[in-house]
Amino acid sequence: MAATVKVITKPARTVAEQAYVPAIASGLRLTMGRFFKNTFSSREEGEIVTLMYPEETEAYPERFRGIHRLTQRADGSPRCVACLCCSTACPAQCIHIEAGEYDEEDPRHGYERYPVTFVIDELRCIFCGYCVEACPCDAIRMDTGAHMPPSTSREHFLYDKETLLSLPGRDGSYLTANPRHEPGDATHPGVDRERGH
Ligand code: SF4
Ligand code: SF4
Repeated sequence: MAATVKVITKPARTVAEQAYVPAIASGLRLTMGRFFKNTFSSREEGEIVTLMYPEETEAYPERFRGIHRLTQRADGSPRCVACLCCSTACPAQCIHIEAGEYDEEDPRHGYERYPVTFVIDELRCIFCGYCVEACPCDAIRMDTGAHMPPSTSREHFLYDKETLLSLPGRDGSYLTANPRHEPGDATHPGVDRERGH
């Protein structure tokens, strides 16, 4: 069977159209219109929606995932028990933890550990929030409401334990609203890792 060819007639164009003059003039009119509007419009009346960052900032949404923080217990020590759940869940592998044992006289000895080293490479982090979801102790949060400040040094993006503990949440608190039952409390179940009960 013979193929059917559909012939399309090329539309005729004027000389001005072939020189793109009307299109260039239209583009320039739009650009210059925006330029004069942005230069002379009032920011206070809301005619311009851009911000003069960093002098001006806008509050992030309530559920914005910002820089991490390590939450504290009432005595200022980290809630973290160095279980490594967060570093295991982290798809970017940017959490480094070294666990340590509490001293023998500490009621937490034999029951839980603490992070001797806790470092997050915020430059590698993809801010997925998996670490927060994985933590069984509400010890790591991303509720600081702040993003990473810019820097030309990679070292500035390595947040160690002390830095993470020094960052408050958006409510200004270093703690969390979730209660924690410490060994020795009347509410503590009394489980002991060494004795197994
Ligand atoms: S937010 Fe995601 S990528 Fe960043 S440290 Fe947590 S788990 Fe890793
Ligand atoms: S922050 Fe939470 S999940 Fe990560 S090691 Fe500490 S207790 Fe475990």
